[in-house]
Amino acid sequence: MRLRPEIVAMQPYRQGRPAAPQAFKLSSNENPNPPHAAVVAAIAEAATSINRYPDATAAVVRDRLAARHGVTADEIIVGAGSVSILAQLITAAAGRGDEVVYAWRSFEAYPGLVTVAGAMPVPVPLTAESRHDLPAMAAAITDRTRLVIVCTPNNPTGTVVDRDDFERFMSDVPGDVLVLLDEAYAEFVRDPAAVDGDALIGRWPNLVILRTFSKAYGLAGLRVGYAIGESSILDAARATQIPLSVTGTAQAAVLAALDHEADLLEHVAELADRRDALLAALREQGWAVPPSEGNFVWLATGAQTAAIAERFAEAGVIGRAFPPEGIRISIGEPESVPTLLRIAAEVVRTL
Ligand SMILES: *Cc1c(COP(=O)(O)O)cnc(C)c1O
Repeated sequence: MRLRPEIVAMQPYRQGRPAAPQAFKLSSNENPNPPHAAVVAAIAEAATSINRYPDATAAVVRDRLAARHGVTADEIIVGAGSVSILAQLITAAAGRGDEVVYAWRSFEAYPGLVTVAGAMPVPVPLTAESRHDLPAMAAAITDRTRLVIVCTPNNPTGTVVDRDDFERFMSDVPGDVLVLLDEAYAEFVRDPAAVDGDALIGRWPNLVILRTFSKAYGLAGLRVGYAIGESSILDAARATQIPLSVTGTAQAAVLAALDHEADLLEHVAELADRRDALLAALREQGWAVPPSEGNFVWLATGAQTAAIAERFAEAGVIGRAFPPEGIRISIGEPESVPTLLRIAAEVVRTL
């Protein structure tokens, strides 16, 4: 069978490791809180009409999101997870011979999505502080560059891009190169100097902002994300979408989550408090942990990554190992923290 060689060479998507029943699954940056009762009720109600296809354009959800971000419904696209919108925009912008620039290490989906589109991944190393190196990313742009992805807070290091640095970066990027600001963890950010895509809407026609309901809103299993940007760019993304992939159930759940947003954001604040306390405790133990603004922390365990991840797993803490760089551990249930800190204290001495 003649398949595309670059696809055959790819590793299939690796999911965060499943946890034993008594273990804490902290490998996928999921929200540990159960879904809101109103969301569950909306899903049950929507289940009575699953014999029908969903609204392909998610019009009600788009209207709702348009109002909250002060844009028109044409300037919003809803996808089956923000990863799907990422794939749509990459496919719309970059084909064979084109280049897509992104920081590395960053979200593990980026290289694969670029390769599937037929384009060339151009990873630009993070700085020694595990941050995006925006000047180096701007310098990596060539005549072939069609898209630059900026991930803030960066998965898996948690670091944010500063607002001023991002504005300078945007002024360096040619106006015909698309910039995608992936803000999957925007709701967890507390650093006042961090870039906030919401405040930049309308500033640059080549900027698209990506958000998701998977993390803060706890709807990872339903697959809904959205992007905000110029309608002509989003039309290109709409053209590459697999039709009807955002289910009616997912659309109903998003509307219920938005109705009860204040409750959900209270839980987000608790998670951010837990993160900040965990960061402080890890630093106290001697870890050089980067300042995380996401719902996860990054332990730079280097060559010992696999062994240390195994040690955490034996104790019931399942993180995500990226050997030979480090381990990303999501902020989970409060009960996970003492075990996490106990093992962290033990292994930090071996580094
Ligand atoms: C989790 C995550 C996403 C979102 O995924 P969904 O497809 O919306 O579930 C996007 N970008 C980054 C950086 C992420 O970590």
